Amino acid sequence: MEIIEQIKQKALEEHIPIIMDDTLQEVGKILEKIKPTKILEIGTAVGYSAIRFSKYLSENGYIDTIERDEERIIEAKQNIKNLNLESKIHIFEGDAVEILPTLNDKYDVVFIDAAKGKYPIFLNEALRMLADGGIIIADNVLYKGYVMSDYNKHKQRTAVRGLREFLKNLQENENLSTEILEVGDGLAISKKKC
Ligand code: SAH
Ligand code: MG
Repeated sequence: MEIIEQIKQKALEEHIPIIMDDTLQEVGKILEKIKPTKILEIGTAVGYSAIRFSKYLSENGYIDTIERDEERIIEAKQNIKNLNLESKIHIFEGDAVEILPTLNDKYDVVFIDAAKGKYPIFLNEALRMLADGGIIIADNVLYKGYVMSDYNKHKQRTAVRGLREFLKNLQENENLSTEILEVGDGLAISKKKC
C-alpha cells in the first residue's frame, strides 16, 4: 500500500476526522487551477490533508499548518518526513487562536479545519492574510446537518453557533464571493474579489 493510503487508513481507524474523499476531490480541483504558492491550514491532525494538498503547490510553494494536539503533531511530523515533504510543509505547534495573530504572510489559500466554535475568529485572521484573488476553504460547515436544524444537543451548541456566525459573516462580506457545497460534511469556498 502507498504511504499516503496507510496514513489515511490509520487515521480512519483511529477516528481522526481527516478530509473526506469527495471533499478532497473538490479542493483538489480548486488547487489544480490556482497552483498556490502559499497555503495556510488550520488543523493539521496527522498531516493527511496537507500532504494531499502539497502536490498542487507551485514549484517553490509551501504549506504552513497549525495543530495543538501533541500526539498528532508527532505523528504528522513523522508522516511528513516519511514522504520527504519537510521542506514543503511546516507545522506551527499550539493553539491557532494564539498562533494566527503572530503570522504575517500572504496566503493564496487558507484551509480552515479545526475547532468549529472558533471559525469566526479563524475567518478574521484568514481575511487579514489572504492574498488578492485568494480563496478561503472551510470544511465541516454543515456539521452533519446540525447547522441547518433547530434542535441541537448541548455538546454541539458551541460548534453550531460558531458555524452559523461564520457562514453569516462569509455571506455578508462584500469582498468575498461564497459558494457552499454539500460534499462531505459541507464545504464553504470563498473567493476574495480582486
Ligand atoms: N485537516 C486534517 C484534519 C484536521 S482535524 C485533515 O483533513 O487531514 C482537526 C484538527 O484541528 C484536530 O487535530 C485538532 O486537534 C485541531 N484543532 C482544533 N482546534 C484547534 C486550535 N484551536 N488550534 C490548533 N489546532 C486545533
Ligand atoms: Mg474536516
